Amino acid sequence: MIEDKNQSLTPLEELGEFGLIDHLTGSFKIEKESTVKGVGDDAAVIDYCDKQTVISTDMLVEGVHFNLAYVPLKHLGYKAVVINLSDICAMNAEPEQILVSIAVSNRFPVEALDELYEGIKIACQKYKVDLVGGDTTSSTSGLIISITAVGSVKKENQVYRGGAAEKDLLVVSGDLGAAYLGLQVLERENNVFKVNPNMQPDLAPYDYIVGRQLKPEARIDIISLLKELDVKPTSMIDVSDGLSSEVLHLSKHSGLGFKIYEEKIPLDPMVIRTADEFGINPVTCALNGGEDYELLFTVAQSDFEKIKGNPNLSVIGHAAEKNSENYLMLKDGDSAVKLTAQGWNSFERD
Ligand code: ADP
Ligand code: MG
Repeated sequence: MIEDKNQSLTPLEELGEFGLIDHLTGSFKIEKESTVKGVGDDAAVIDYCDKQTVISTDMLVEGVHFNLAYVPLKHLGYKAVVINLSDICAMNAEPEQILVSIAVSNRFPVEALDELYEGIKIACQKYKVDLVGGDTTSSTSGLIISITAVGSVKKENQVYRGGAAEKDLLVVSGDLGAAYLGLQVLERENNVFKVNPNMQPDLAPYDYIVGRQLKPEARIDIISLLKELDVKPTSMIDVSDGLSSEVLHLSKHSGLGFKIYEEKIPLDPMVIRTADEFGINPVTCALNGGEDYELLFTVAQSDFEKIKGNPNLSVIGHAAEKNSENYLMLKDGDSAVKLTAQGWNSFERD
């Protein structure tokens, strides 16, 4: 946490609410044609012409979703945007605008919010989305960030969770389990630091997985890739709560079961090595870890040739019969375990 030791830090009172909004949002540029009116009026105005509007919102609460002891505010701003854009991508839509609402206590100087908004701005630039509004209020304790993302999609390209048909192939982008293990490493190093503040963590051997935790990306590139390959998924979801939980969502909404194959689950070598170090099964990290923000989707078997061998895509299983259960087929070839949702649950007690 940034402390007020440094004289040059600016207390929030100095700017006031409206001054702060101007200060934080003034340098954001509007890029999208669809943005008719951005920050500054009572509401934003968006025009997608003939396309449908896709909207999603997510809230991040200090102490529940992030720990400022090891999450830099710039990364937090970036990640808060990305996790919302990921939801828009999971609808096969193009993210276009975001609204950012923050509740902050006065222990944060203006400079801390500048860091947060710097991360938000980098994400806006990278994903070509416009910041068109939000809300600013005070909080008596921690920091709360709520982001709403808006996107557009042609009606015929819309993809829902329910839509998978029997025998469709189940495909996932990228690799899984890394964000969870990155968090384990950060928490371990933070605990070491709390005991001995002179210990400097060496995160270099964990760069990929820590990066996956602190700076995830929304797979907008996969949406473009699928368009290029002329593949329209039959169902889709983003992997925010772990593979297991997401497969169960597709299953429930599509009214059929899935079989996924342990040896097909994509794992980075660093995930395998770090899981081993922590004495956990890397497949468990992929199934129950979450925060990977990859896309999980089904395609018709007739599309197999189009996606086959693509380094960004792994076929990890297939849809089975209507109303069947969901199974993980183990490496040994003849045993299977029923998939259960052990994904992150905000209301779960420790
Ligand atoms: P109102 O009182 O009508 O809700 P506000 O003063 O809250 O208006 O907001 C003024 C403008 O600034 C609006 O366009 C609003 O969407 C935008 N805004 C407010 N807070 C933020 C923020 N934290 N980030 C981005 N835009 C914001
Ligand atoms: Mg307001």
